[in-house]
Formats: sequence, C-alpha cells, structure tokens
Amino acid sequence: MLQNIRVVLVNTSHPGNIGGAARAMKNMGLSRLVLVQPKAFPSEQASARASGADDLLASAEVVDSLEAALVGCTLVLGTSARDRSLPWPMLDPRECGVKAVEHAGGGEQIALVFGREHAGLTNDELQRCHFHVHIPSNPDFSSLNLAAAVQVLAYEARSAWLAAQDGDQIEVEDAGEPLATMDEMERFYDHLEQTLVQIGFLDPAKPKHLMARLRRLYGRSAVNHSEMSILRGILTETQKVARGEPHKRKD
Ligand code: SAH
Repeated sequence: MLQNIRVVLVNTSHPGNIGGAARAMKNMGLSRLVLVQPKAFPSEQASARASGADDLLASAEVVDSLEAALVGCTLVLGTSARDRSLPWPMLDPRECGVKAVEHAGGGEQIALVFGREHAGLTNDELQRCHFHVHIPSNPDFSSLNLAAAVQVLAYEARSAWLAAQDGDQIEVEDAGEPLATMDEMERFYDHLEQTLVQIGFLDPAKPKHLMARLRRLYGRSAVNHSEMSILRGILTETQKVARGEPHKRKD
C-alpha cells in the first residue's frame, strides 16, 4: 500500500536533502522517489546523507516537469510552509497521512509534493494539488528543512497505515469507478481554458484567478472517468457551436 504513495521533490538545490529525504522515506517504508529537475543528481552528497537508502536513490525517477511527476496520480497533496493568496483545502500532517492511506489502500496512486529549499512551490504548482498540507510549526520560524518535512509526512503516512493494519477506523476508499488521473485532468483544464477563451468568458489578457478557481472546484469533485468523458463532450460541442460548425442540437 505504501508503495502507492510517491514523494515528489521539485527543483531541489542541495543533493544532501535528496539523500536525507530518501533515508526518511525508507525508514517509514515509502519507496518511490520522483525528482523534478534536481540541481545536482546523482551526487555523492545525496548518497552520503541517504546512509543505506541508496537503493531509493538508484531507483529515483528524474523528470522534467511536475506534470510528468504526477502521471497516473488521482490524489496530490502539496506542502506549503506559508499561507498563499488563494485559499485552498488544507490538511494537517495527520489528516494528510490518513487521506493518503485511504486512497492508496484502494489502489490509487498518491503524490506528496515538496518544494524548493528557498522558495517552496510556486502558486502554479500548488494549484495542481488537491490539498495543501502545512506542518504547524513556530509561526516565527516556520520553514522546516526539506528532508525534515519529508520525514514528518512520511511518518504520518506510516502511522495511518499501521493504524489501518490494527483495524482502526481508516476506511479504504472504495472508489467504485476509477477517478480521473492528473494527466487526464490536465488535458481537461487545457480544453476548458481554450473553450472559455473561445466563448469569450475568459480574457487571456485579464485571466484573474479564473483557472485557479476552476482547478480548485474540479479538484475537490473527485471526477471519475465517465464524468470526465461527459465534461470533455460538453466542451467539444460548445466549441463546435462557438465556431458555427454542425453540432448535436437538432433544430
Ligand atoms: N521559503 C520557502 C520554504 C521552503 S522550505 C517558503 O516560504 O515556501 C522547503 C520545502 O519544505 C517546502 O516547499 C515544503 O515542501 C517543505 N516544508 C518546510 N516547512 C514546511 C511546513 N511548515 N509545512 C509544510 N511543508 C513544509
């Protein structure tokens, strides 16, 4: 179950932190590490800090974009050390562990996403997450070291998993029909944006926060495959009407 939970590190500067994160993961039984454009990897410093978790480094996937790191995921939990402009559904680390295990237990792929040492995750990256997770640290000194933050969330995932083994109330999600994956959602958002521009609802010169708000709305809706087909079908027909092409309406 825990192997369905991947840890994604975005644009990490210090390879030592990658090693530290790998060690934290292996201690807690997580195994899948995905690195988005790491500044230096592979690296001796990473191996030194991994101290025995080199296997996780050897099997780590290095990708070019967050989008590539999230392929196949149906639940994305993004960490944030501070409040951002647009409020987003928030979880504390314990709730994050429980939610990750509920979904992973049903066979879904989950991502825990961590940001850059100096700048965290961008707003755009955070808007690709279903939930934001904040570790309730000292408000006057709120940023944890990256590997320490990975440790906290990995520990909470393990605790939730152990509780589920003991028959505690964690209910494995019976998703029924599989949820749309992040890659399907991204194609949908592209299609939605194009359509909204075409019908004049979205002004590319003044987008405001429209797409972010729509991501937040659809992100909390747990859209499944057949619902996704309906949404895409509506967009396709809307585009035909907007272009004055033949469409489904009969009159
Ligand atoms: N200066 C950055 C902090 C980056 S800390 C900022 O203000 O966003 C590097 C990473 O560690 C963060 O992107 C996040 O993934 C994790 N992290 C550090 N402190 C955290 C906290 N209190 N809650 C959640 N994640 C945290």
